[in-house]
Amino acid sequence: MINIPKGTKDVLPSESRKWQYAEGKLRGVAALYNAHEIRTPTFEHTELFVRSIGDETDVVSKEMYTFEDKGGRSITLRPEGTAPVARSYVENSLDSMSLPLKTYYIISAFRYERPQAGRLREFHQFGAEVYGATSPYLDLDCISFAYDALRALGLKNIRLKLNSIGCAECRKKYVDALRGYFAGHLDEMCATCRERYGRNALRLLDCKNPECKKIAEGAPVILDYLCDDCRAHHDKLCSLLDSSGIPYEIDPGIVRGLDYYTRTVFEFVTEELGAQGTVLGGGRYDDLVESIGGKPTGCVGFAMGMERALMLMEKQGVDFGEDRLDVFVISQSPELAGDCMAIVSDLRRAGVSADTEMTGRSMKAQFKYADKQRARFAVVIGGNELESGRVKIKRLSDGKEEECGISEIAARVKETI
Ligand code: ATP
Ligand code: MG
Repeated sequence: MINIPKGTKDVLPSESRKWQYAEGKLRGVAALYNAHEIRTPTFEHTELFVRSIGDETDVVSKEMYTFEDKGGRSITLRPEGTAPVARSYVENSLDSMSLPLKTYYIISAFRYERPQAGRLREFHQFGAEVYGATSPYLDLDCISFAYDALRALGLKNIRLKLNSIGCAECRKKYVDALRGYFAGHLDEMCATCRERYGRNALRLLDCKNPECKKIAEGAPVILDYLCDDCRAHHDKLCSLLDSSGIPYEIDPGIVRGLDYYTRTVFEFVTEELGAQGTVLGGGRYDDLVESIGGKPTGCVGFAMGMERALMLMEKQGVDFGEDRLDVFVISQSPELAGDCMAIVSDLRRAGVSADTEMTGRSMKAQFKYADKQRARFAVVIGGNELESGRVKIKRLSDGKEEECGISEIAARVKETI
């Protein structure tokens, strides 16, 4: 037997309904927010991710699925959706459409990580990216989109944590302060942090090593280093959130693991999923489009981890509904299979889901199978029924029967479903 690769999962027929349910709700919310779907390829040139996410981040330095294709190009399976969408925005001159432009996607993403509950090597994200958006009203709109998306899935007890990581200018001063602080602790920190200290000291704040984490807790806080414009942006967003009624808390520990963020960063977190508690993360990235060759463009976006959202939905008892079959046509003897299939075919054309026996099993086995398919009704077809054109429709939930003509089955069933 050949097994599934480590860190990947099949979505089995018995589980796909949950995904479809969640995806349907999310597409519904996206439409309410005037967001349009964008689809980009599963792989991109490696350079795109190195340049945008940053080569000192965990994602780029440790987690990417990178390979050389037969043409000698370095290709990477997308580890996230923001950079590919930004690439497409620049390449297709989407700025010539009226701005702001709101996009969304449901994608698979790939990261070489240690698999555990809520952490896979192929996982899925629902994400949104808004372009041409420098005003804090768009930060609010984006956070509110994320909030409504989580609510549409029926999720509860998720806290919004907010921070600002400023712009390149305030970050320069902040990074100096960080270096000053970490200089005294370097010998207690991990090798990666010591290496990153000189090149990208901000990354020392999201090291997962417990020792480094403890030291990072005492580090200076970026909110104290914001320039006037970044401070005003942050304050305005806080006051907008206050009046919107979306509860939040300021958490200076939120820096996000990707380099492209500027100003607003946020996470929606739960206590109910253990270490993998971040269900959704996002923020503003005003320098990204320019860094990959476009015009300076204010942008804000988020990505929700679908597996984590679904795990939480299950934990919180969300009702996903169930796949059901409207009618199962029971064949009294194997020779009648052709007649039963003709009836089923008419039912399907009339918009009623239907199936019948094709393997010659006993009536008892067919009733059992109909139950397993969650059929609402069963119709038994024998010689008498075919001759008279009259059948009995049996409701499987309580056994109640009703008589009607073969050609009326679809209408009768539709009345009751
Ligand atoms: P974490 O800190 O848990 O590694 P992250 O900061 O790397 O998350 P992002 O890059 O912000 O994650 O991705 C957005 C969301 O995608 C996360 O909040 C999470 O829900 C989900 N996600 C990220 N990596 C994985 C993974 N390997 N498996 C499953 N879901 C993931
Ligand atoms: Mg990660």
